[in-house]
Amino acid sequence: MTDSQELAASASQIYRTALDIIGGIEPRIAEATRSELADQRASLKLIASENYASLPVLMTMGTWMSDKYAEGTVGHRFYAGCQNVDTVEAVAAEHARELFGAPYAYVQPHSGIDANLVAFWAILAHRVEAPELAGLGAKNVNELSEQDWEQLRGKLGNQRLLGMSLDAGGHLTHGFRPNISGKMFHQRQYGTDPSTGLLDYDQVAATAREFKPLIIVAGYSAYPRRVNFAKMREIADEVGATLMVDMAHFAGLVAGKVFTGDENPVPFAQVTTTTTHKSLRGPRGGIVLAQEEYAPAVDRGCPMVLGGPLSHVMAAKAVALAEARQPAFQEYAQNVADNAQSFAEGLMKRGAKLVTDGTDNHLVLLDVSSFGLTGRQAESALLDAGVVTNRNSVPADPNGAWYTSGIRFGTPALTSRGFTGEDFDRVAELVVDVLARTEPGTTKDGKPSKASYRLADGVADRTKAAAAEMLDAHPLYPGLEL
Ligand code: PLP
Repeated sequence: MTDSQELAASASQIYRTALDIIGGIEPRIAEATRSELADQRASLKLIASENYASLPVLMTMGTWMSDKYAEGTVGHRFYAGCQNVDTVEAVAAEHARELFGAPYAYVQPHSGIDANLVAFWAILAHRVEAPELAGLGAKNVNELSEQDWEQLRGKLGNQRLLGMSLDAGGHLTHGFRPNISGKMFHQRQYGTDPSTGLLDYDQVAATAREFKPLIIVAGYSAYPRRVNFAKMREIADEVGATLMVDMAHFAGLVAGKVFTGDENPVPFAQVTTTTTHKSLRGPRGGIVLAQEEYAPAVDRGCPMVLGGPLSHVMAAKAVALAEARQPAFQEYAQNVADNAQSFAEGLMKRGAKLVTDGTDNHLVLLDVSSFGLTGRQAESALLDAGVVTNRNSVPADPNGAWYTSGIRFGTPALTSRGFTGEDFDRVAELVVDVLARTEPGTTKDGKPSKASYRLADGVADRTKAAAAEMLDAHPLYPGLEL
C-alpha cells in the first residue's frame, strides 16, 4: 500500500473530523464505522474475496462526485454538466486499458454481478441482434416494428450458456439455476475431474460440442488453480461460441503480471469482466473489458442493465488502477501467490486435506470433513478464534451449499498488511489447531448437528493472542488513529 506515515497522520485528522460530523447527525453510523476499523484491525482476514483498499482510494469515494447523474457514456450523456464525470470515466478507462492491455474498457458497472449482466447482454446484442437487425432491414433497435421485436425477443431469450458449476468453484452468475443467469439462459455446467479436482478441458470441449453454447464462461470464485485461457478460447472457437472470462477473483494477479501468457485471459476472451475490490485492491465495483467489436454493445450497459454510474466510485477505480500500474503492485501480486503457496504447504504438512492438493493462485480450499466437521461448524469455530473465513462447497459436496464441507481462504488481504510466507505458515498452524480442537455438536434432541460445535476451552483465547502478535507487527493503515 502507498500509505505513508505522513498520509496516515493527515488521514487521521480528516477521518476524526468527518466521524465527529457524521456522529452529530446519526451517532450509530459513526460508531459502526469506528468499530468496523477496530474489527478489521483485530482479526485475521482470510476471506478470499476481500482486501483493504488504500487510504487514497477510500478518500476518493467520499466526495461530491457522488452527487452527479451521468447516464450515457463519455461525451454522450443524457444529463447536462457532465464534463468532470467525463474526465473521471475517461481516466479510469484509460488506466484499465493500459493495465490489462485491453482494446476497450467500460468502468461503470456497480459490482461484479452487474459487470456480468452487461457482458451477457452485450454478447447477446452482438451475436443475435446485429445480424438479425440486418435481416430485418433495420439499422438500430428503435426502427423495429412490434412484430419484428417479438421475433427478436424470442431469439434473445433462447440462448445457451456453458459455465463452471458452483461446487467446482464457479460463480452464481455463471449459469447457476437459482441465479438470473440460470434462468435467462439454457444453461449447462462443466465441472472438475473427480479424482484430481482439476479442470478437465476434454470434458469442457465434449460438453461444448454437444451443447453448442452461444457463451462459454470461464473464471471462478473458489477454484484454487490457474486456467489455460488459450485452451478455453480454442474450445469456444471450435463450437462458434463467444468466450467470456470473469476474472473477478484473480484480476490482481493479472494486473500484477503473475498470470501471463495463456493464463492471462484478456487477449483470449472476447469479453472479460472483473470486480475491482478483491485481489485488485480497489473500491467495490466492476469493469468490463472487451475486444473492439463488442464495445458499442458494452457501452449500452447503462441504461440497458445499470442505473446511472457511481461517479465517485469510478474516480476511486481510477486511483486504484493507477496504483496497480506501479511496480510495487507487481511485487504485491507475487507475494499474494507466494503466500498462498506457503499457507497451503503449512496446512498440508499438518495433515489437512486441500482440494486439488494445493494452490497456484491466491486461494486455498480446505476440505474440513477430515476434521469431522462441516464448513459451517469450521467457519464458526474459526471466527470464535478471530480467524475470518467463509464456508464453501467442495466438488460433489455431500453437505450441500448451506452447510458445505469446505472453508475457502485467500491471501490478498493479509498480504496487503505485509504478512510474509513465514507468517502464513504460522496462520496455517493456528487454523489446524482450532479445527483439530473443534468437535461437532448435537441438536436439542441429541441428533448429530451440522451447525453446532464445541471448541475446546482456551483455544479461542490462545489463538487470538498469537494472531494479535502478528497483526500488531503488520498494522492495518499504520498511523491512522481515530
Ligand atoms: N464474479 C465472481 C467470480 C465472483 O467471485 C463474484 C463475487 O463474489 C462476483 C462475480 C460478484 O461480485 P459482486 O459481489 O461485486 O457483485
